[in-house]
Amino acid sequence: MFQIIFATGNQGKMREIRAILGEMAAGITSMKEAGIDLEIEENGTTFAENAVIKAQAVAEALRAGGDARECVVMADDSGLEIDCLNGEPGVYSARYLGEETPFDEKSRDLLARMADVQEEDRSARFVCAIAAIFPDGETVTSEGIVEGRIGHELRGDNGFGYDPIFYLPEWERTAAELTDEEKNRISHRSKALELMKEELRKRKYA
Ligand code: IMP
Repeated sequence: MFQIIFATGNQGKMREIRAILGEMAAGITSMKEAGIDLEIEENGTTFAENAVIKAQAVAEALRAGGDARECVVMADDSGLEIDCLNGEPGVYSARYLGEETPFDEKSRDLLARMADVQEEDRSARFVCAIAAIFPDGETVTSEGIVEGRIGHELRGDNGFGYDPIFYLPEWERTAAELTDEEKNRISHRSKALELMKEELRKRKYA
C-alpha cells in the first residue's frame, strides 16, 4: 500500500477524496497534515496545468525533505465556465473579484452580467482536473465535467462556491439544493477522481 498526499487545505475536498479513493491507499494526507505549508502561484492557463503546478510544488517539497519514495502526490484545480461570458470565471473562479470577496457577492455579480441572457444561452459547466505524480516522477492528469445552466437567483444552502447559481436541469435543482451524497455522485470532482482511480489501477496501485 502507498500513501496519497493531496495538495489541498480544503476539508470538504478531503472528505470527498477519502470517500472515493480511501480503500486504495494506506492513507490519504492533506498537504498541511504532511507538514507542508506552501504558497503556490497558480499561473497556468488551464485547470490541468494548475493541478500539475500544485502537485509538482508539493512533490518537490517532499523530495527536499527526503520523503517522496512511496507517495503519490495529487492536486486538483476546478472552477466554473460560463459560455456566454467566454468561459469566465474559469481558472480564476476562486480569485474572481478577489479571493476575499464572499461567493454570494461573486455569484450576484455574474447574474447581473447575465441579466439579459436568454435561457438557451445560459449553459455552463463545473470542471475539475486532477494531477498525480507517481514515485518515479511520471505525471498523469484526469478531468471531470458536470454540465448545467446558470439560474436567475441564488438557491439552496448546501455545497459551496458557485453552487447556488448552478442549476442542474435533470435534477430540477441547483447544486446547492442537492445533499452532499447526491452532489458527490455527479460532481466534476468525483468524475475526475474515478478516472484517476483507473490510472492508479493501471499502474498496479490498486
Ligand atoms: P480551487 O480550490 O483552486 O480548485 O478553486 C475552485 C474554485 O472554483 C472554488 O473556489 C469555487 O469558486 C469554484 N468551484 C469549484 N468546484 C465547485 C463546486 O463544486 N461548487 C461550487 N463552486 C466550485
